[in-house]
Amino acid sequence: MARYKDSVCRLCRREGIKLFLKATRCETAKCAIEKRAYAPGQHGQRRKKVTEYGIQLREKQKVRRVYGVLEKQFRKYFAIADRKKGVTGENLLQNLELRFDNVIYRMGLAGSRNLARQLIRHNFFLINGKRVNIPSYILKKGDVFEPAEKKLSKHPIKTGLDNVRNHSFPQWLAFDQEKNQGLVQSLPMREDITLPIEEQLIVELYSR
Ligand code: SF4
Repeated sequence: MARYKDSVCRLCRREGIKLFLKATRCETAKCAIEKRAYAPGQHGQRRKKVTEYGIQLREKQKVRRVYGVLEKQFRKYFAIADRKKGVTGENLLQNLELRFDNVIYRMGLAGSRNLARQLIRHNFFLINGKRVNIPSYILKKGDVFEPAEKKLSKHPIKTGLDNVRNHSFPQWLAFDQEKNQGLVQSLPMREDITLPIEEQLIVELYSR
């Protein structure tokens, strides 16, 4: 039986896509998915018949895992997206993208959403000059975020700032290198989210 050094890579194999759960390895050839995409064990390559419900459920689980959101919280995001004007699935993804941990990750200030969550909980970042240690905080257009001044000399922040300079980030974000400040300059649109997600399946699941 195949052995995994990393249980998070096991989740990617189970879903058959890269969930980007590790800081540095995900972008390299060492990524477990780059090596082999199917599930572990002697039956890993066997095709199972999946029901429509199963496909919808799997899509929801995949999105939950990508963004690191618990079931209860995910339902709340869906309810908010459903109440908002526009396309429910797109509203849902937009809110997930605007989570503080995702914004820090997308900007390149942390190599994974997991690391971003840890740094936020340990008071590494400010929003609009105020300390915010809630990874699920939803940012708005015009919000400014930055590392707290006393954390600038810490290793994860130095690495993160180096990374921002060499990293391409989505166009809805901007970064002022002199002030070390990030800005949500517009709301993320569906085309900005390049992960292979079929959000309509999630809408169908919750509409059952
Ligand atoms: Fe592991 Fe990252 Fe590759 Fe997923 S994307 S298999 S977490 S290295």
